Amino acid sequence: MNARSGWVQEFWRIVVLVLVAWAAGTVFNQVYLFLLLALLAYTFRNLFNLQRLAYWLGDPQASQIPIHFGLWGDIYSRIARVMSRHAQRDARMTKLVNEYASSTSALPDATVALEADGTIRWFNDAASRLLGLQAAKDIGQKLVNLFRHPELAAFIAKLDYSRTLELTAPGNKNRKLEVRLAPYGDGQYLLLAQDITDRLQQERVRKDFVANVSHELRTPLTVISGFIENLQDAENVSRESIARPLDLMGQQAARMRQIVEDLLLLARLESDSKSNTQTTVDMVGLVRLVADECQGLSPETPEIRTEIGSARRVLGDEKQLRSVVTNLVVNAVNHTPADGEVIVRWIDRGSETVLEVEDSGEGIASEHIPRLTERFYRVDAGRSRERGGTGLGLAIVKHVLNRHEATLEVESDLDEGSRFLCHFPANRLSG
Ligand code: ADP
Repeated sequence: MNARSGWVQEFWRIVVLVLVAWAAGTVFNQVYLFLLLALLAYTFRNLFNLQRLAYWLGDPQASQIPIHFGLWGDIYSRIARVMSRHAQRDARMTKLVNEYASSTSALPDATVALEADGTIRWFNDAASRLLGLQAAKDIGQKLVNLFRHPELAAFIAKLDYSRTLELTAPGNKNRKLEVRLAPYGDGQYLLLAQDITDRLQQERVRKDFVANVSHELRTPLTVISGFIENLQDAENVSRESIARPLDLMGQQAARMRQIVEDLLLLARLESDSKSNTQTTVDMVGLVRLVADECQGLSPETPEIRTEIGSARRVLGDEKQLRSVVTNLVVNAVNHTPADGEVIVRWIDRGSETVLEVEDSGEGIASEHIPRLTERFYRVDAGRSRERGGTGLGLAIVKHVLNRHEATLEVESDLDEGSRFLCHFPANRLSG
């Protein structure tokens, strides 16, 4: 029903009421009395409807709209329409708030909403994990009272939104956090804490790497420039007298070339994680070839034996796989006395096949094992250099294996020997 027809109906209702009251009043010669009675009846009817409206508004869900016609019906349906619009908007807002809450909860950064006086209003899941906050007991508490961290308290007191603070995560002592503040609402602010442990670790690795490369290249450079200075100062230089310095300079230059080549290979290996040269590599042939080559390196080389228990081939890059076998066998030979033994195995273990290089040499103390594949990590740097090692061999091995979806395992006991195992998964094997 539209508003106009409601009003028209009501108007005609009043007209009819007045006419009926006037006619009855004329019959009984009491026109004023009947008009007064009609007015009272009309007023009571409206009062009754108002009371019903008030009752219905108190709990609109509990009862139907009481009147469906006339001006009152019109008023009820208009109110119902407004209420339904509000309900829809409420539902939309609730959905939005829920979505917002669940998205901030899923954020990896800790977010804590604080009142102007530093009282905790709300926080997300990451705040529980990184800051150790607990919803049940910490909401309503002052943040600085929970942590008792003087630096954090001073940082919050300053309310300088352009600054950041680095601190150890109170919820996890192994993680480092970067904390910042952001204003919102009426004097309230957010405390945002980002886990920067991995970033700091990467920065440290990068700095160490630059320092290591510089150090590795400086030693041969110093030797070469020393010889050059000596030669420049020397008079009557004979061919024989410079033969030895030239020889040593050649060795140092070769060493620098080896470092640069290994670094370039590592950079290439790191640039994408999967091997794209897909040939089937004959590992049996490769193991035998490398064992023979290394055996002939010097008379000091311990005996190298091969044990073949698999005919499977590896899907991958032959040159890279050859560098894995060579690096492992050369390492084993370098760390094993002449009367020791090195065994190179290619054997099936269930669905996977394992390349094993075992030696009876000096072994490696357990604290060094997790770090062996770091670039330039060496148990004894001096000895490694003496033997022409760059400290990059096992880093290259690890990267090549990654590209072939294979994994490296190291077992070793000091003074008893070491075993390097490369596990190749079934999806990288054929035959
Ligand atoms: P390097 O050029 O020094 O051989 P690697 O990355 O190949 O560099 O090896 C890192 C370090 O691991 C070596 O310096 C050595 O201390 C240790 N290592 C590797 N293989 C063996 C092994 N078979 N026995 C004992 N120590 C080993």
